[in-house]
Amino acid sequence: MSCVTAYLSIMTTANTSVVRTRFAPSPTGYLHLGGARTALFSWAFARHYGGTFILRIEDTDLERSTPEAVQAILDGMAWLDMAPDEGPYYQMQRMDRYRDVIASMLSQGTAYHCYSTPDEVQAMRERARAAGQKPRYDGTWRPMPNKVLPPIPAGRQPVVRFCSPLEGVTAWDDLIKGPISFDNSELDDLVIARPDGTPTYNFCVVVDDWDMHITHVIRGDDHVNNTPRQITILRALGATLPRYGHVPMILGPDGDKLSKRHGAVSIMDYDDAGYLPEAMINYLARLGWSHGNDELFSRAELIEWFDPQHLSKSAAQWDPKKLNWVNAHYIKQSANEDLAARVAPRIMARGGNSDAVDLPAVMGLLKDRSETLEQLADGAMLFCAPYQAASAELQAEVLTTDARVLLAEFAARAAELADWSQDTLDTLIKAMLQDHGIKMHRLAIPLRVAVTGVKHTPSIGAVLELLGRETVLSRLG
Ligand code: GLU
Repeated sequence: MSCVTAYLSIMTTANTSVVRTRFAPSPTGYLHLGGARTALFSWAFARHYGGTFILRIEDTDLERSTPEAVQAILDGMAWLDMAPDEGPYYQMQRMDRYRDVIASMLSQGTAYHCYSTPDEVQAMRERARAAGQKPRYDGTWRPMPNKVLPPIPAGRQPVVRFCSPLEGVTAWDDLIKGPISFDNSELDDLVIARPDGTPTYNFCVVVDDWDMHITHVIRGDDHVNNTPRQITILRALGATLPRYGHVPMILGPDGDKLSKRHGAVSIMDYDDAGYLPEAMINYLARLGWSHGNDELFSRAELIEWFDPQHLSKSAAQWDPKKLNWVNAHYIKQSANEDLAARVAPRIMARGGNSDAVDLPAVMGLLKDRSETLEQLADGAMLFCAPYQAASAELQAEVLTTDARVLLAEFAARAAELADWSQDTLDTLIKAMLQDHGIKMHRLAIPLRVAVTGVKHTPSIGAVLELLGRETVLSRLG
């Protein structure tokens, strides 16, 4: 039988009536920012059209895939609250299916056994290069009309190659990049199964996209070169083609491809560093997608607004300052109780006691000036860490004889306050400033140093209120 390529005439393309998207990470490391953004676009696209979002773990690279990396992906997606509607599917659990499809392609004549050794293929490539052509497999074992194939070498296990079309073009209208086309003469007869029968990467992707009825493949543009190969195989299988959208990469602030060099690139590092998942979703969405000039939007708005027309063709740039700004916004608008619950473990990790104070009230005091949960925790330690008196040096500098006289008077008057609140404390401070004809810092700095051990704190009235009468008076005593 010669190679069957008549399938070339089949041209079917998915529409958006039943959307099914997938995120298909290879579990070879943590979930990085680029991967999380790709997942987010696939997720938001499916949500926008009321479709189905599928998670598929592409774990066929046995040397590089690890269970820890699978877990890191699941953790990252759970943290961002992007639960898949289906899956996770694991490619390693689908090996029988891939073998079946390879067998049927062999019997239909859309694939063939090739007995050339890797060295022979290498030599073919070099010959082509020497002749000024693109290095490629020369088709020795490809069945052609009236062609007599070489005798099968004894004891050699063949690879299976796909009968790639020899002429014409493979083209698609990319959801993001617009029309893209490749000359079929550029495409080698792809190896779809190795000598031990295991299927190769591009082939597994194709069978999965086909079986899982994927309608829209949204992925990084490092896969653009795989797409014509996948399309030709899908056509050979008589499958409906998905639409493809290739998302440009993310650049670091210096314009190079975003990498470890630019700091944290695992999505979970951002959890550790005190970013809120809702801020991360908002920020990641803006890396390559826009809705007018909107920088801040809720998850519901993102879903409502998300459309592929506004996915950008050009690379996005990672901007840590902007991420901080977005995070600060989400912190500011979070409920104090919610922030307290998120910050409490961070206080404990610092050796503090999160029950030592009205933590939601502390969050209320600090949230307008904090960009991350870590900063909130640092700030809250003023109230939650075991009290440490100021250093002798600081005491000598600030707690002068005059200052101590003022503090003694403050303590006596504060002890008499009927109501211990920021208001009454601020009023008392003002009264003392007037009585003594002094400026705020003359009283506020000694108060801070005596009561908290440090010179800089948020508003002194608020700090005194939160510390409580007993603590303040005992530290002034
Ligand atoms: N497993 C591939 C990767 O992690 C993605 C494949 C695809 O989306 O088609 O880069």
